[in-house]
Amino acid sequence: ESVVYWMRMEDMRLEDNTALAQASQKAQEMGVPLVWLFVLSPGDYKMHDRSPKRIDFMLRNLRYLRPRFDKLNIPLHIVSFDKRLSIPRRLVTEVFPSLGANHVFCNLEYEVDELRRDIATVKLGRENGVDVVAVHDRLVVPPGRILSKVGKPMSVFSPWQRQWAKIVDDEPDLLEISPDPKPNDAGVRQHEKLGKLFDASDIPDHLEGFEVEDAEQLKVSWPEGIDKARELLDRFLHTKPRKQLLKLVDPLLDGAEKDEKLSRVQQYGTGRNLVDGDNSSRLSPYLTSGVISARMVLREAKKMGKGGKLESGRDTGLGMWAQEVSCKVHFYNHIMCTWPRVSMGRPFLEKFADVQWQVSEPHLQAWKDGMTGYPIVDAAMRACKARGWMENRVRMVTASFLVKELMLDWRLGEKYFMESFVDGDLAANNGGWQWVASTGTDPQPYFRIFNMLSQSEKCDPNGDYIRYWVPELRNLKGKAIHDPHGKMPSAEFKKLGYPAPIVEHKFARERALFRYKNPGEKE
Ligand code: FAD
Repeated sequence: ESVVYWMRMEDMRLEDNTALAQASQKAQEMGVPLVWLFVLSPGDYKMHDRSPKRIDFMLRNLRYLRPRFDKLNIPLHIVSFDKRLSIPRRLVTEVFPSLGANHVFCNLEYEVDELRRDIATVKLGRENGVDVVAVHDRLVVPPGRILSKVGKPMSVFSPWQRQWAKIVDDEPDLLEISPDPKPNDAGVRQHEKLGKLFDASDIPDHLEGFEVEDAEQLKVSWPEGIDKARELLDRFLHTKPRKQLLKLVDPLLDGAEKDEKLSRVQQYGTGRNLVDGDNSSRLSPYLTSGVISARMVLREAKKMGKGGKLESGRDTGLGMWAQEVSCKVHFYNHIMCTWPRVSMGRPFLEKFADVQWQVSEPHLQAWKDGMTGYPIVDAAMRACKARGWMENRVRMVTASFLVKELMLDWRLGEKYFMESFVDGDLAANNGGWQWVASTGTDPQPYFRIFNMLSQSEKCDPNGDYIRYWVPELRNLKGKAIHDPHGKMPSAEFKKLGYPAPIVEHKFARERALFRYKNPGEKE
């Protein structure tokens, strides 16, 4: 007999892990071994556009966790299934019996395919005498709880957020941390007896089809493990922002100065819109992969709030940030669970389903390569390739450029971001894209179209971000950095070796306005 904790790529931690805590308790009660199961599923990763950078982060976190689980006598059993749809059957008929498992615990994953897989596994398990328990863990308030006065799901963020905050205030248990798993002494005894049975523990270096070229750099930019996540959190909550131009260095090495009053979080209201310094927390890869839980992050933030309360209004830096950490991701997950069509390539606002898109491989490629002739877009797209990450403001800017300036289908951009980001998360990414494309739940209205030039001046006032990522422009001074083609004599511009803008803003704006106003038609 044994109890299995089935870890997902979204709950890669030992602390505050609901399924693991329950599995540990069950194993203690029964006096049987607890096994940590990880299912590699390259078919799923391909199907869901998982980026090699995210897979690399996942494998590094598995390696980080291994000795920590070993210390508790919880052996790792790792399996790899290529055919994603066969996972429930193979788990129930092969893996669970081979481990002698009668009880399996996992944290629910809310994406449609994953949810279907979990439901199928629970059902098949029951039919075959294995009790598979799938629990809520990822979101502070489980999806489906927040409803309007007439009991309907809500699709507008602000009232949804108010309800969220009320529930969290009324039910402090929601922010309770699950106990750490206990050392599994029965595991040692049984382990000796069962010998090789649990010995399927090799964590591959990489997965075929998900190789990264810059493995060493990724380790520096996104070090694995909860200790690093805690350091990042501490740095964000307690230290002052610094102009940090070398964006590829480990942020934890920049020796930032402690200052509670002027810390990054206190300045988040303005800092979050700037990209020329290191202003936001950079926790997204850690939150997305569950290396640290949202509950742990919010509890830390709460300690800084007035009277030890979570400030969830948008009038303080802390309140604003708490709202982003907790509500935005949770809101988009709630939308995905309630209206799964959004994760199947459908716009939330169906009236925009027929907007006519351009088809242009060269334009798409220029956007991906950071060669559009719009410096802020190019800087961010090149940063994306190198780091697998972008600040929120430039995610909005680059997405807006693809959709409203190039008039390319937002789903192409959504896919490319997923394939590139170390923090790629279906719900947050889809929510972000649909907001920009004006097709989502309370989206940016279609007639509000970002002007790349003014966005650039606002988020990178001195052009330092652009200079760092676009070396062709490194020597430019003044406003020319934002608009070299417009501001420089053409002979001088040509010498830069930098492309001229691939689209003209005024023309693009008119085209977008027409196409959104008249879905199905071209001007
Ligand atoms: P901070 O500003 O420090 O915020 C802390 C945490 O709050 C983030 O780590 C994240 O978990 C959450 N958060 C903050 N802003 C948002 C937001 N607008 N929407 C949802 N959650 C938010 N975030 C992802 O985690 N994964 C994605 O794949 C993703 N794709 C995006 C695509 C587009 C087009 C846009 C516009 C936004 C996307 N975001 C995504 C949201 C946001 O850009 C990132 O979470 C943020 O830039 C991460 O940086 P940070 O950790 O320093 O954030």
